[in-house]
Amino acid sequence: MVTGMDILYSSTRNDEKRIPASQAILKGLSEDGGLFVPDRIPELDRPLKDMTDMSYQEIAYEVMKLYLTDFTEEELKNCIGRAYDSKFDTEEIAPLAEADHAYYLELFHGATIAFKDMALSILPHLMITAAKKNHVEEEIVILTATSGDTGKAALAGFADVEGTKIIVFYPKNGVSPIQEKQMVTQKGKNTFVIGIHGNFDDAQTGVKNIFSDRELEEKMLGKGFRFSSANSINIGRLVPQIVYYVYAYVKLLQHGKIDDGEEMNVVVPTGNFGNILAAFYAKNMGVPIAKLICASNENKVLYDFFRTGSYDRNREFVLTSSPSMDILISSNLERLIYRIAGNDARKNAEFMAALSQDGEYRITEEMGTQLKDFYGNYAGEQETADRIRELYEKTGYIIDTHTAVASVVCRKYQEETGDMRKTVIASTASPFKFTRSVMNAIDSKYDSMTDFELVDELSGLANVKVPNAIEEIRTAAVLHHTVCEKDEMKEAVEKILGI
Ligand SMILES: *Cc1c(COP(=O)(O)O)cnc(C)c1O
Repeated sequence: MVTGMDILYSSTRNDEKRIPASQAILKGLSEDGGLFVPDRIPELDRPLKDMTDMSYQEIAYEVMKLYLTDFTEEELKNCIGRAYDSKFDTEEIAPLAEADHAYYLELFHGATIAFKDMALSILPHLMITAAKKNHVEEEIVILTATSGDTGKAALAGFADVEGTKIIVFYPKNGVSPIQEKQMVTQKGKNTFVIGIHGNFDDAQTGVKNIFSDRELEEKMLGKGFRFSSANSINIGRLVPQIVYYVYAYVKLLQHGKIDDGEEMNVVVPTGNFGNILAAFYAKNMGVPIAKLICASNENKVLYDFFRTGSYDRNREFVLTSSPSMDILISSNLERLIYRIAGNDARKNAEFMAALSQDGEYRITEEMGTQLKDFYGNYAGEQETADRIRELYEKTGYIIDTHTAVASVVCRKYQEETGDMRKTVIASTASPFKFTRSVMNAIDSKYDSMTDFELVDELSGLANVKVPNAIEEIRTAAVLHHTVCEKDEMKEAVEKILGI
């Protein structure tokens, strides 16, 4: 039953057709290449100060029920309960650590020790539930491009989930050694991992092309398969990410670190623009967030965009020590562009056509004025390494390279503006995932050690137990060996599916 309270989803490139949340999750990406967006951003229906004794799971329900309005209470609570369980190594799920006048929101306590677990622990459950609700008979083939972390988190989430197969494409030379090992050792009959000779943007474009290949879709349906996506273009990933911004504010309230209604700033190390977009949604739902601070590494397209209003991907792709942010086409920015264009799908589609043809578009001045709550900056490689060392020496707290990019940008923002509001920094990966870069930043003497010697060394320095995700891969056998060219991705998929 559709009521006035229901939220429907439409494509950012054609908003004539509106579908319920479960169908948007199943589809992943719209046929026209657009991303699904809710027809409005709902407001929280209870005061934040009344949530201070709620668990992560309870807050997740309060947030997600407002978006996934065609899921029953039982369905949604069931998905949440299965997702946020003992796979996380802390009951808090997303603890806040205070260090050097900032609150690090640790989003890396899930199965694969990066923030992608926050959404990918629940996406398979949402998808299976959605498939049942919509009487989908076909096997769901999850197609995913990864800059390193999504791949493993999606593999872990979908491994051996009945009625699904998962195929992950990653840039063969563009991920950390630990990230690669995590993926190629993945167990599960339904898991497939392929390295491509290309970068993340190539992988993402390849996947988007496969999605919009109508001929292939027909062929797939004939054989009983349908595609979906585990990338952050899937609205089923964005919604669970809103939860932890609500949770962070509630935790600050609970611990008396912030007054009710007092605004905080958030800093997000950004790649595909999914995480910071979730913070933007949280702000629009009523969480008192002042500035949304977008931190980039040397692939600073977004910094330039916020500064000039021009999005220009025509530049050299740089491999950095924060590989999960090595991206020149930030897909989720499209959801923001659509919104600041006045929810105008035609106008948005023109920008996106320009991006794909010329690699560039420029927003209007009027649109630019709606971005005043965003601030963009970036951190160079040396600044990032210096920040890891400095924070460690000052406080003993060790952050990973991505979080360090955010930490540098946080300071640049504060120095530039004098705005010293309480600040939450999204801490997106465990330092154990990027051990070599982290340890080299602390001291060059570590250069000669092996990856796993470094893991043990880091454990000692940080006084943190080696996470299970790392223990698991120490001795695990490599199970996936396939590598292909970037223009052979479709053939690789057909081969796996035997079609
Ligand atoms: C994916 C990822 C990011 C970037 O997040 P987006 O939502 O793509 O902007 C940052 N840090 C880490 C560790 C990641 O895995």
